Amino acid sequence: MKILVLNCGSSSVKFQLAETDAELIEQNKDRVLAEGTLERIGGEALLTFETMNDGEEKRTSRSAEPVRDHAAAVDKILKWLISKEAGIKGLTSLAGVEAVGHRVVHGGEAFSSSVKIDAGVIKQIELCIELAPLHNPQNLKGIFAVQKTLGEAVPQVAVFDTAFHHTLPEHAYLYAIPYQLYRRHKIRRYGFHGISHRYVGFRYRTIAGKEKDEVTIISAHLGNGCSLCAIKRGDSIDTSMGLTPLEGLVMGTRSGDLDPAVVEYIAHKEGLTLGEIQTLLNKESGLLGVSGLTNDMRELLDEVRDTHDRRATLAVQMFCYRLKKYIGSYLAAMNGAAAIVFTGGIGENAASVREKVLNEMQWCGIELDKAANEKAVKGAEARITTEASRIAVWVIPTNEELLIARDTFRAVMNLPQK
Ligand code: ADP
Repeated sequence: MKILVLNCGSSSVKFQLAETDAELIEQNKDRVLAEGTLERIGGEALLTFETMNDGEEKRTSRSAEPVRDHAAAVDKILKWLISKEAGIKGLTSLAGVEAVGHRVVHGGEAFSSSVKIDAGVIKQIELCIELAPLHNPQNLKGIFAVQKTLGEAVPQVAVFDTAFHHTLPEHAYLYAIPYQLYRRHKIRRYGFHGISHRYVGFRYRTIAGKEKDEVTIISAHLGNGCSLCAIKRGDSIDTSMGLTPLEGLVMGTRSGDLDPAVVEYIAHKEGLTLGEIQTLLNKESGLLGVSGLTNDMRELLDEVRDTHDRRATLAVQMFCYRLKKYIGSYLAAMNGAAAIVFTGGIGENAASVREKVLNEMQWCGIELDKAANEKAVKGAEARITTEASRIAVWVIPTNEELLIARDTFRAVMNLPQK
């Protein structure tokens, strides 16, 4: 089945066209046939389209042209997918796109798994806009755009970033604030990056030859946004992001955990509004805020290596220290773990960050294999601890789009999710 996977942001749409079915999933052989991005929608947009036909070099085309809105963006993607230029084998008309899977950021308490989209689901996603005002409206735009361009008959599936965390127990998802605030407004920890944590858990269990309920691991998704997930017997039982993605680890531009009293203090001292402080904590903090240089880990590591810049060094140190503390707390929460898995742009590529975090963890039996860690930078799955290490540490590249395609296939075919 050819499935279009869409990830719609405020002014961008990322897409992949994946080929998957029950047999391909079983053999881990489902493939991406094409992918691309449209950025700066609403004006002169930048389009990048790539095709990967079997046995051929990746073909890339780039252009700039006006794209008015999300519906126009989806229309452009579909027209390109069936064009001669894309040359996708077996796809010559829109009828070949059999289903569409959407990444939807917030499913609130309503969704514990991926679902086929109907009017009721759209209503629920709308109700979650309050919880994710920056993301859910964009995801809905993508859903409406597909309805408009492909028609209502093509099945669409919503895959939620929050759904994997629906197994968090009450004592982990509640904040210790008056209980009625949860009852009245559903103020609680939801967690995000669930698609990535679930994918990584699935790959680990495949590699380790284990059943789902035998998997007790910590998954560290470290990209621009960063979160940790404690997966016990296959289920998420704790995660570092909360009501919003601001809580938890130090991130590219987000502060992560901080004393809530800091907010009022900043308001008082700097004369900022709550909205301005929200922006400061989400967009001007984290690696960027501490270093004063950049939110990009690769650039920071270059700076540390080349100039020993003090604040760049401090930002990296704070990032690693917070991560180490969280790993320690999840090991305590789960009475240990069989493995820790690193993923995301930083988790997959920054060997020196992994080394800083895993150093001096002999207390829990982690023994880093330095050579394996240095080598694990090319997007391949790799174990980076010695055979003797009591906890295995892995680098597993995430593939959220593939999981969205698989969930879409299963939801359309009414098959159980894994
Ligand atoms: P997003 O969360 O937007 O999907 P990514 O998962 O691509 O982001 O992660 C982006 C982060 O990964 C950036 O901080 C980037 O610097 C970092 N990164 C990518 N490659 C490397 C590398 N080779 N070394 C260190 N950091 C890297």
